[in-house]
Amino acid sequence: MAADVAVVVEHLNGTIAEVSFEMLGQGKRLAAALGGKLRAIVLGRDARAAAEACGTADAVLYVEHEALGGFDPEAHGKALAALCAESAPAVVLVGNSSKGMDLAPDLAVALGVPVVTNVGAVAIEGGTIVATSRLYGGKIHAEVQVAGGRAVLSVLAGAFPAEAGKSDRPAAVEGVAPPADLASRIAFQRLIEPEAADVDITKEDVLVSVGRGIQDKDNLEIVQELADALGCPLSASRPLVDLGWMPKSRQVGKSGVTVKPKLYIAIGISGAPEHVQGMKDAATIVAINSDPKAPIFDVAHYGVAADLFDVVPALTEKVRELKG
Ligand SMILES: Cc1cc2nc3c(=O)[nH]c(=O)nc-3n(C[C@H](O)[C@H](O)[C@H](O)COP(=O)(O)OP(=O)(O)OC[C@H]3O[C@@H](n4cnc5c(N)ncnc54)[C@H](O)[C@@H]3O)c2cc1C
Repeated sequence: MAADVAVVVEHLNGTIAEVSFEMLGQGKRLAAALGGKLRAIVLGRDARAAAEACGTADAVLYVEHEALGGFDPEAHGKALAALCAESAPAVVLVGNSSKGMDLAPDLAVALGVPVVTNVGAVAIEGGTIVATSRLYGGKIHAEVQVAGGRAVLSVLAGAFPAEAGKSDRPAAVEGVAPPADLASRIAFQRLIEPEAADVDITKEDVLVSVGRGIQDKDNLEIVQELADALGCPLSASRPLVDLGWMPKSRQVGKSGVTVKPKLYIAIGISGAPEHVQGMKDAATIVAINSDPKAPIFDVAHYGVAADLFDVVPALTEKVRELKG
């Protein structure tokens, strides 16, 4: 059985995505369990600098080509498939990101191996790959035993510690020629940078964060009053930003920002992995949710399983009272 592990490294503007370090750390453990080596794969117009930052891997293969500059899933898919077909790793780890969600299924088809998506845990048990897929926003954890000994796994950001994948060791990099055919039907247009933030929520000690449980834009006043009483800004889960109720700069999570306040109060937020990824390192997490089984309670230090429309005004009153 092929026993090596490959990690597809994501990078943008010279910065490697945290999920890639998380996968490198986990990939190292998997490779050891399989008795194989860990390879990192880096694609891009300028991929070498990112490749050199992957010292955790036993070998780093990088492919540079103009067609791999912006994110073009077809061109990236072809380059990736060519590399993986040649080195035949047992496990390929791809981030469950916007890019990875495009790449992982295509790569699995190209290699003729199964794909497991939304992976939050993975182990080798008796030589078998066992992956846990977190479905429906983390409400269902499906344990999957992969037959055949090979798989592509798309890994949720935040599932593994990034530190384990970071190393000062010089990386053993090797430039690989791109495949002759990188032709694509997709044309990358441009990268849209996020708008400048009114408030930098990553620097705040206290955050009141609101989710879809608030039900209506007009109800935001209730949580804004609590934030005002505490003297902190309001942040939000992604749906509220998608609805245009809150600015993008206030979005916590995978496609927003990562925050580490001393206190994070999550109100009407279910605790989907993409949200939790951005706030799980807060020193104290308080969750208010009417569903006692909401996944947010798995990361909360204090939980109130009740209707936010009862709890939040009472909490605001109490804070005002205490502050005099
Ligand atoms: C690629 C990708 C990136 C993503 N990036 C992000 C991201 O950066 N940030 C992010 O947040 N999400 C992100 N998401 C979306 C994420 O998967 C979830 O859909 C989202 O976090 C859910 O938001 P929510 O918890 O506000 O809403 P819901 O999941 O709908 O939860 C609402 C919660 O409110 C509770 N509730 C309802 N009424 C009340 C009440 N009266 N009182 C108390 N509680 C109540 C419910 O029990 C429920 O738990 C991303 C998804 C993808 C696929």
